[in-house]
Amino acid sequence: MATATNGSETVYRSCPICEASCGLTLEVDRAAKKVLSLRGDEDDPRSRGYVCPKATAAKGIYEDPERLTRPLRKTSTGWEEISWQEAYQYAGERLAAIKQAHGKDSIASYIGNPIGHCVSGMLAVPMYIQAMDSERLFSAATMDQQPKNLTSSLMYGDMWAIPIPDIQRTQYMLSLGGNPIVSQGSLMSAPNIKQEIAALQARGGRYLVMDPRRTETAEVADEHHFIIPGSDAFFLFAMVNVLFDEGLTDLGRLADFTDDVERVRELSQPFSPEDVAAATGIPADTTRRIAREFAGAERAVCYGRIGTCTQEFGTLASWLVDVVNVLTGNLDREGGSMFPRPATGQAEHYLWDGSDMHMGRWHSRVRGLPEYEAQLPVAVFAEELEAASAGEERARALITICGNPVLSSPNGARLAAAMDELEFMVSIDIYLNETTRHADLILPTTVQLEHANYDFLFAGTSVRNFARYSPQVFEAEEGLPDLGEVMLEVAARINGTEGSVLDTMLFEGMLATFVGKPNTPCAEVSIDDARAKLGSEPGIERMLDLMLRSGPYGDAFDDAAPGLNLAKVRAVDHAIDLGPLTQRLPGIIRKHHGRLKLVHEILEKDIERLRRGLAERSDPDRLVLVGRRQLRNMNTWLHNLENLAKGPERCTLLVNPIDAERLGISDGGTAKVTARAGSVTAPVTVSDEMMPGVVSLPHGFGHRESDTRQSVASSKQPGANANQLLDEFSLDVPSNTSVANGIVVQISPA
Ligand code: SF4
Repeated sequence: MATATNGSETVYRSCPICEASCGLTLEVDRAAKKVLSLRGDEDDPRSRGYVCPKATAAKGIYEDPERLTRPLRKTSTGWEEISWQEAYQYAGERLAAIKQAHGKDSIASYIGNPIGHCVSGMLAVPMYIQAMDSERLFSAATMDQQPKNLTSSLMYGDMWAIPIPDIQRTQYMLSLGGNPIVSQGSLMSAPNIKQEIAALQARGGRYLVMDPRRTETAEVADEHHFIIPGSDAFFLFAMVNVLFDEGLTDLGRLADFTDDVERVRELSQPFSPEDVAAATGIPADTTRRIAREFAGAERAVCYGRIGTCTQEFGTLASWLVDVVNVLTGNLDREGGSMFPRPATGQAEHYLWDGSDMHMGRWHSRVRGLPEYEAQLPVAVFAEELEAASAGEERARALITICGNPVLSSPNGARLAAAMDELEFMVSIDIYLNETTRHADLILPTTVQLEHANYDFLFAGTSVRNFARYSPQVFEAEEGLPDLGEVMLEVAARINGTEGSVLDTMLFEGMLATFVGKPNTPCAEVSIDDARAKLGSEPGIERMLDLMLRSGPYGDAFDDAAPGLNLAKVRAVDHAIDLGPLTQRLPGIIRKHHGRLKLVHEILEKDIERLRRGLAERSDPDRLVLVGRRQLRNMNTWLHNLENLAKGPERCTLLVNPIDAERLGISDGGTAKVTARAGSVTAPVTVSDEMMPGVVSLPHGFGHRESDTRQSVASSKQPGANANQLLDEFSLDVPSNTSVANGIVVQISPA
């Protein structure tokens, strides 16, 4: 695993910053606790030496002098460090008292998306939710991929059965709402997307981008078309209309188990390319040509990402991406859109407990919006905490888990004010930031180089199947726990027990799920035998071993079998390639008796709303805002790292020259951007990379509070909080995801 030379050692890990999970080679001095160098791992079969500039964040976060390593308690004279024993006792007593006085739903939780890169946190989530037993759970999902989760629930019966573009084998890729060269392919995890696109083109394929900005991906695409923000569903419906109108549908093997094709044809009738041209900005003949090319391609895939989700018709756009792939026979086929198969088994159909999608089991108190898979939309977060909105029913306490929702949620100023009304707030976080400054107690955790990790979540979105374990590099400061440990300990203390008890409950629950059930790989294995082989050491290692051994590539607890177990995965320094994606339908459909029903009443109902939206989109005088992804940013997380924060100010408002002249603003000047929810000012960059009528501001900035401990972020890249412009009442109706793209704004010189 590591080679010792002159006190330094070579260690291999995966990069913990984005979905691509590239292989890293680190030269470290363990005794001095120093990373001497960091580069791409040439022997990693997935990334082959590639890394982007953000790879340095693994070192940067570890070495950041402002990172917290001890619990902080807020006092009348400022923050004081306390012991872990005091911290857990303080959190447990205060939270338990609030629960006792006001009920279980008086404690809200918010989970941010860095947890996706930390297996101890990911594995702890189900037990945390169970132990908290609160109807008030929020996360970043309703600012992100929730519409895709919902359409996967409706079509396949599993919110995480998300088809991923098989970019390595496709011949024609149509991309909407994503900038994968910069994001490295969100919901399409693949290191070095630029090279993947070049390879696609080198084998004679074509890559098309529909985006209101000529993005970095559009620059290398074969075609780029400006599309009016929020109109992707119109464009995709028009493609569907053409497929039917011109007899281009061909479901192939999908026809044997797909229903509602005729109903989709009927629903597409009002959306011909001519009907939607004004709303999308795409000429009808262009839409017709793309539909014909897509249907005629040997292997084609339609891909939609965050721009198709965080918009007014996010659910319909996400659904239509899959519909286009189904109607052309490109779902679940090589070079189309396929379902990954993680080695840890979380995408196996036999895990299904027979229940249908969960939605509406309870509702938010103020606006009455439904839960979906135990979460409420982040759009109602602030009002659920406010006395003026929720009265006696309000949440009195909050636990935030590695998230900064004051900067990443709609109307962050309202949320910040609502946090100050709480009786108690705990933040599990490594920074004193714009959100955690409101807490009474901050509980830090280890960072990536201080704990072992496994690429759990993003093996489920990867363009090739793989298994990857990353070892701990440095000992953490004494007592500093992993994320999952803190989550379970806090949840346990509220219930008068200890984290180790919840850890055992979690493990035993997993054993019962994976072992000894009929028609599973470990049907013949007894739980006692499995438990004996997994050992008694608490924590993630035995859980990972259990999942790997019982997973689709596992040894099924037969030590002589060639399949995977944790020891084998740990013994490999790099990712283990488990091959290209393979066909999984209809086997993984968890509902409708294994049939793929294309239409659900939730979708049909929203198509009425889509029809009503056609006229509004066609207004040529609208000026709308979209976000944008940047290579050195990752939401709010990385702005405190010198290496990534350096350079010119990045939080700029991109404006097309035509709009700039009309609005009286100039390149290098400052503009005031006003939306219904609020206003911000930002420096202006005038560029024809923006579509006329559309402006762009990146999100995740707004580091302007004086009482945080992020001096690099606040001095080098403070920026404007773009989410202050987001309206908490503007939602994609079926998924209740906040609209972050296509917001009507007014702009004036500042
Ligand atoms: S692409 Fe993502 S995983 Fe790869 S080095 Fe950059 S941040 Fe890390």
